[in-house]
Amino acid sequence: MADLQSVTITLPLPDKNILMSEFPACPKCKCEYTYSNGTLMVCPECFHEWNPEEVDASTSSATKEETASGKVIDSNGNELKEGDTVVVIKDLPVKGSSKAVKAGTKVKNIKLADGDHNISAKVDGFGAMGLKSEFVRKA
Ligand SMILES: [Zn+2]
Repeated sequence: MADLQSVTITLPLPDKNILMSEFPACPKCKCEYTYSNGTLMVCPECFHEWNPEEVDASTSSATKEETASGKVIDSNGNELKEGDTVVVIKDLPVKGSSKAVKAGTKVKNIKLADGDHNISAKVDGFGAMGLKSEFVRKA
């Protein structure tokens, strides 16, 4: 029994703060002692390998969606909101269709979207499509 202490191997504990800021914990077993093999993160506990950049990418895109909240303004300068009904003010050619959305078409229950076509809505006879807010006015 007297020898027990000298037999026990004490693993040097790495500095937690340094470790955690450098490497993410294993997403599978939450082990913190992960290391990088150059391209992938490796977990010494469960041997799970993963790409930390992929994890980062999904996180940052989620953040982007939250912060991108530019106002959607119609042709009259009114702000449009989710669920609004708008009226198309000019004939709009539709990609992949020989028909155009006619001026005066009512579009109900619009959704706001990012990008060039900042409204997404279901248009009767066409289905779901993107619209530009500058070509509609609030009904
Ligand atoms: Zn693990």
